[in-house]
Amino acid sequence: MARVVGIDLGTTNSCVAIIEDGQPVVIPNTGGYKTTPSVFAVTEDGKRLVGHLAKRQAITNPRNTVHAAKRLIGRDFDSPEVQGAQQNVPYELVAGPNNDTRVQVAGRVYTVPEISAIVLREMKRVVEEYLGETVQQAVITVPAYFNDAQRQTTRDSGKIAGLDVLRIINEPTAAALSHGYGRDESEIVAVFDLGGGTFDISILQMGNGVIEVRSTAGDTYLGGEDFDNLMVAFLLDTFEEKEGISLREDAMARQRLRDAAEKAKCDLSQVNSTEINLPFIAVDAEGQALHLSVLLQRDQLEEIVGPLVERTKGICAQALADAQIEASEIDHVLLVGGQTRMPLVQAAVQEFFNKVPHKGVNPDEVVAIGASIQAAMLGEDKAGPLLVDVTPLSLGIATYGGKCARMIERNTTVPTSAREIFTTTRDGQSTVKIRVLQGESDIAAENDLLGEFALTGIRDAPAGEPEVEVTFDIDTNGIVSVSARDVASGEKQSIQVNPRGTLTPEELEKLSSEFADSEEVAVRG
Ligand code: AMP
Repeated sequence: MARVVGIDLGTTNSCVAIIEDGQPVVIPNTGGYKTTPSVFAVTEDGKRLVGHLAKRQAITNPRNTVHAAKRLIGRDFDSPEVQGAQQNVPYELVAGPNNDTRVQVAGRVYTVPEISAIVLREMKRVVEEYLGETVQQAVITVPAYFNDAQRQTTRDSGKIAGLDVLRIINEPTAAALSHGYGRDESEIVAVFDLGGGTFDISILQMGNGVIEVRSTAGDTYLGGEDFDNLMVAFLLDTFEEKEGISLREDAMARQRLRDAAEKAKCDLSQVNSTEINLPFIAVDAEGQALHLSVLLQRDQLEEIVGPLVERTKGICAQALADAQIEASEIDHVLLVGGQTRMPLVQAAVQEFFNKVPHKGVNPDEVVAIGASIQAAMLGEDKAGPLLVDVTPLSLGIATYGGKCARMIERNTTVPTSAREIFTTTRDGQSTVKIRVLQGESDIAAENDLLGEFALTGIRDAPAGEPEVEVTFDIDTNGIVSVSARDVASGEKQSIQVNPRGTLTPEELEKLSSEFADSEEVAVRG
């Protein structure tokens, strides 16, 4: 039977795991690391690098080193997140033909799914080297709060990398699966997942062979990267105040600041104060070298990033309300994602749930392990717990006057479907236009436009007579599809949904076939 692997495609780091002799194993790369930075770079002499090698040279080659590409996945170029990201990343973002976001590296434009595919291919290589066999099938995890375009784009990335993505599962659900592996206690679990780029909270009911997500909430643009951005802004201000020189336009200095800020942030999870020293960061008007030296206390860091941690609490409250559960009913709180190592985050979780969070899981590996458990269930057709997940966002259609009519409510169990009959408003009208939306607002423009399509070839009839039944499906991966049927004739209508921010099918085919010709160098020792 073909082996299926579990991959956690993270904003900051990625991780791959398999089940061996009934036990989950996280596969180290050839450098011995169990996680690989989700970083891609092209060097001055045209060499493509991925993982640790790419990350290590970021300081000297910031413009051609791409990190945190997951934050751009499935997002419109015009979106506030992408426009905001451009202020914080040294590499250049450009718009693609479907208004998708692309990245310019060493004179070439890459689509975001290509960048993710480069990371996925590296994870595929890591596990293939370990197993000594080729791997073609995978379960890939995504933040629970990812919308349709982000999920589709993740699946596209797998395809480009030469992987058949059998299932996309939500990261907190994967963590719960890992937590419940080998035990069957009846309990309600909250998974608090704060990684490098995203935040998710899921409330799950576990036991009797079933893992059922009761609710999920999140923010796909809240993670460790934002903590780092605030620290970099603080360091830039501190330096400018002291020396009267702005480092904002200096990509190399900013990359050094970012690296130092992240390191200091992690150090301050262990110690109460740390020093940031960056010699020769700039030169003054007289040509004298200037150095940055800042002593940072833990409580200063906590003040800087406090508002981000506060934001997670409101999202947790929404998840509890949607699950109709009180915080006191939660049996365990699992911490997932590297950013949960920060004491302030742990204290906020403890205060909100009035419970000491469970520290038994490794926050960097637990998601990949959960994916590998699901992968083994799919690959070997092994019995395992029944996973019942939900759609994080409501699905609706745009109606007259710019409103959104909700058809599937958020936190509905998936797979699910909804039907709606459409008709014409004019005599002889042959086409009806439908806009599919995802989000919680009653105003159409405030939601994500998943797709816009036209029902064509409607028979010649008076207004209101033809009936076209449109079915909206959300599958187990959380991916939306739409089909339509002429009620009178029973004939299927052809529908083309072209979500903004994703690749067109033709482009996906082209990228997939060209991709095999390129190669990256990763850490080897
Ligand atoms: P993940 O996406 O789960 O790999 O999380 C990565 C994020 O966790 C990055 O923003 C890291 O800076 C952050 N992180 C990792 N270790 C620590 C630590 N000890 N303290 C604070 N943040 C950390």
